[in-house]
Amino acid sequence: MDYIENALNLAKQSSCAGDYNFFQALREVLTSIRPAIERHPHYTENRIVERIIYPNREIHFTIEWLNDRNEIEINNGYRIQFNNALGPYKGGVRFHPTVNPDILKFLAFEQIFKNAITGLHIGGAKGGADFNPKGRSDQEIMKFCQAFMTAFYNSVGADIDILGGDIGVGEREVGYLFGQYKTLTNTYNSIITSKPLSLGGSEGRNSATGYGLVYFTQTLLEDMEESLKGKICTISGAGNVAIHAIEKLYALGAIPVTCSDSTGAIHDPNGIDLALLKEIKLVKRLSLSAYAESRKSASYIRKEAYPEGSNYVWQIPCFAAFPCATQNELDIHAAQRLVSNGVHVVAEGANMPTTLEAVDYFKQNGVVFAPAKAANAGGVAVSVLEMSQNHTHNYLCAEEVDAKLRKIMADIYTHIKRTCDEYELDMDLVSGANILGFKRVADAMLAQGV
Ligand code: NDP
Repeated sequence: MDYIENALNLAKQSSCAGDYNFFQALREVLTSIRPAIERHPHYTENRIVERIIYPNREIHFTIEWLNDRNEIEINNGYRIQFNNALGPYKGGVRFHPTVNPDILKFLAFEQIFKNAITGLHIGGAKGGADFNPKGRSDQEIMKFCQAFMTAFYNSVGADIDILGGDIGVGEREVGYLFGQYKTLTNTYNSIITSKPLSLGGSEGRNSATGYGLVYFTQTLLEDMEESLKGKICTISGAGNVAIHAIEKLYALGAIPVTCSDSTGAIHDPNGIDLALLKEIKLVKRLSLSAYAESRKSASYIRKEAYPEGSNYVWQIPCFAAFPCATQNELDIHAAQRLVSNGVHVVAEGANMPTTLEAVDYFKQNGVVFAPAKAANAGGVAVSVLEMSQNHTHNYLCAEEVDAKLRKIMADIYTHIKRTCDEYELDMDLVSGANILGFKRVADAMLAQGV
């Protein structure tokens, strides 16, 4: 039996049939590392593929807490500590009602290779809870974060497993999680990143994923003797990654014309008004419909008004598209429309926002496709800078962090491109990234013995 089917069968025996997102990620990685598996038989002899597809540890815990009405609420919490061959587990925490073991297994599996691609010594993990922070008071958010950490702190540690932010977990939540760990353990350890500056966070961490995404795209375009200057760009999402991507696109002279949230999408042909977007999404925490109400040039398309299920922003003609909202938000219909509208580059800011079918369609049609595990690795890279600043007490200024981020993103591109050349993959950055990440993890596993 082919190694891919063999590995998928093995994974199915230990997973539940509903692990749709995890199997999607597994199939993509296993398919694209074939050239490395064929060229290096010692990976097969040492059963690396079969070993890498099993999480080292899957933790499921219940979170019991009291809401503002003094009622007991119960949520499910999870942490998938997938692989620590390269270093301590590292990965974000997501609070969203859709969180389940499938989503977290896919995110943790992707995180292993993303972290490896950065060249830093960190393993891969992801965690979260099926808690919806929307509409909750500050007090409720704090109580939930404290209960989450109380249920799980024994598995965390600065050399064991380091948490971070993700959807629904920003600086406020990170601060509460950190505070509770400190109270429970009487330590001030770097067990979580994306901390506020007042708790030892790093300058530039908040913007690192969005800025890094644009730096990565800029580097690959320079390699193709192209640039973002004056180019129309479409972006989905209106959260941390999307807003900072828009900010950096403007800084490089591009024209970002869309954004979206869970209620609908904005098309603003004059360019997104960044100050207004920040005020609505970060300060007032409103729906994007409020953006269109304040800005005559913009149109707002409600999600329900767009029946294909895919995000409306992909209907808008553009040079470069940046999906920055959530997984599987760019499907084959959206890909077909983007290609027929002449898109040149698609770079993923969110994790796995593009379906496998859509990725294949881009490749077949000569669109340069930058996968998340390379293009959005700036966030985790600056998280490691945060950890290092916490350990050494030597803090960097914003300019120093930005210079390091630029270099890290440029190096990631260079190493992936070199891998593409080595395996004659042309501009297949998906395969180049997967092979690069896989080999780094596999070689570390081999070096440690069984
Ligand atoms: P945020 O919670 O800050 O923002 C997410 C945005 O996406 C929100 O505007 C949200 O809308 C929107 N959204 C969520 N679900 C949908 C949907 N089904 N359709 C349309 N829009 C939707 O998260 P981040 O920006 O931090 O994360 C976005 C993505 O980037 C995730 O995939 C995350 O895993 C990934 N990522 C984030 C990193 C980081 O450093 N933050 C690092 C690496 C990856 P609404 O405002 O209505 O909730």
